[in-house]
Amino acid sequence: MKSMDKIVSLCKRRGFLFQSSEIYGGVQGFWDYGPLGVELKRNLKEAWWQDMIRGHNDLVAPAGAPAPFEMVGLDCTIIMHPQVWKCSGHYDLFHDHMVDCRESKKRYRFDQVRGRWCERGDKKIFVSTLAEVEQELDEVRRRAMKFFKLRAKNADELTISDESLTLDQLDDTESVLAPDAKSLGTLTEPREFNLMFKTTLGALGGEDDTTFLRPETAQGIFVNFKNVLDSSRVKVPFGIGQIGKSFRNEITPRNFTFRSREFEQMEIEFFCPPDQSQAWYRYWRDRRMAWYTELGLSSESLIMREHEPAELAHYSVGTADIEYAFPFLPPGEYGELEGIAHRGDFDLRSHMEGKLNPDSPEGQPMQVELNEHGKPKYRGSGKDLSYRDEATNEKFVPHVVEPSAGADRGVLAFLCEAYTEDEAPDDKGNMQTRTVMKLHPRLAPIKAAVFPLVKKDGMPEVAQEIYGELKQHMNVFYDDKGAVGRRYRRQDEAGTPFCITVDGESLSDKTVTIRDRDSLEQTRVKIDELSFALIERLG
Ligand code: ATP
Repeated sequence: MKSMDKIVSLCKRRGFLFQSSEIYGGVQGFWDYGPLGVELKRNLKEAWWQDMIRGHNDLVAPAGAPAPFEMVGLDCTIIMHPQVWKCSGHYDLFHDHMVDCRESKKRYRFDQVRGRWCERGDKKIFVSTLAEVEQELDEVRRRAMKFFKLRAKNADELTISDESLTLDQLDDTESVLAPDAKSLGTLTEPREFNLMFKTTLGALGGEDDTTFLRPETAQGIFVNFKNVLDSSRVKVPFGIGQIGKSFRNEITPRNFTFRSREFEQMEIEFFCPPDQSQAWYRYWRDRRMAWYTELGLSSESLIMREHEPAELAHYSVGTADIEYAFPFLPPGEYGELEGIAHRGDFDLRSHMEGKLNPDSPEGQPMQVELNEHGKPKYRGSGKDLSYRDEATNEKFVPHVVEPSAGADRGVLAFLCEAYTEDEAPDDKGNMQTRTVMKLHPRLAPIKAAVFPLVKKDGMPEVAQEIYGELKQHMNVFYDDKGAVGRRYRRQDEAGTPFCITVDGESLSDKTVTIRDRDSLEQTRVKIDELSFALIERLG
């Protein structure tokens, strides 16, 4: 039986994953990859880079676009200009403590709701309101009178404090009358919504020097759009990919590496003419789904969840999540591996003109968000990030389709999928339960292990020579300790697809056995042909 406990314990025991800073008691939401884990994660990232960017050669393109279309890469910094996060929307969205009202179902910024203590007899409540400062006292009085069911003639029974406080200045919210509620204590505990880690540039550290660790890699791509166009002569439609660390100060990191505070993303921003965006959205959704199944995730454990039209931003023609049935979820539930979003021209236009208002009236181009003085809330770069099609001479701001995958969630899904318990004969031929990680050969941390059957009769020398030769082509492991059956088991747990054994016959006829991890079949091949045979089998 597959269980999260067994998978977590194998990961620790075999060196896939360790809790960060474990000797100091660990730090929540941070994970280190051990010797096997680092190979697995690198292999996953390299498979993505190879299939999506460097080796991309898909001869099928939708919407009559030329094929293969261009895919190029970038590697941007983690710390960027603070304005990037203002125009992207992260500064507002990820900022501040929020409280939810259980009664009105409304959400408020904890530091924006103001109010005063109101007393009648021995009852003291905190009446809050979103009213402007000038109207605050009147509004508090009106609501307090209503709450205590007081008539105007009894108004002097009510005492209202002179001091106006915000919710974050209170010890608790139990006696708070929320801005749109009729009963007390309906607010949830405040939740940190600033998921961005703050940091300071330079030594002085004033407010203007505050910046953030990126919460996604995508913004580096948007702000470099023009640089890529000008330097590499790519033509829309084309895509830019990036793999890199992202940071989110998650409130509740949990489920092993699934929700971490430091994680890696593999993101593509695909730029296309606006009238092709629907076709490209479908293309990427299907291509990304196929990628996971080709690398071994079973289609029964994988779903594509299209967001309901009501969940979509109105500028978006679609968003779909690729989700996996992680064993830590109840049956029938799935966790997000990757999101494929159609983002319209929101990002490029925001970086050009200033943050666009996603709540702009439907059916109209989005407007720049304004502050209380009617000026743009955040100024954009002012740079022209539009594209001129040389063939038609048409100028437009490209639309974007964004397949955004998590490398750590990917690794976790492949680990969960790979974990298998089956039966295999031990050294004496008795069937025993074995734990085997059935990782796709492209992902397996070790591709082959080389064993001398015994540590004598010249076998170690031959095995060492084979090991040295194979090391030039792939990650191999040498093991001469213990019974050969035990060595096989150790490699099964590491997910090694092939074990090569040098035995007595090897010395006379220059052959070795290759044992297949999944079928347990052993075949003899000539030592001369071994590298080739393995490379062929690894695919
Ligand atoms: P969730 O809803 O699970 O928080 P999200 O929708 O916020 O995820 P995106 O912003 O779409 O995630 O990020 C794209 C991908 O980055 C996700 O599909 C996921 O694989 C990965 N990712 C996001 N947040 C985390 C995290 N805290 N830990 C690990 N991976 C993450």
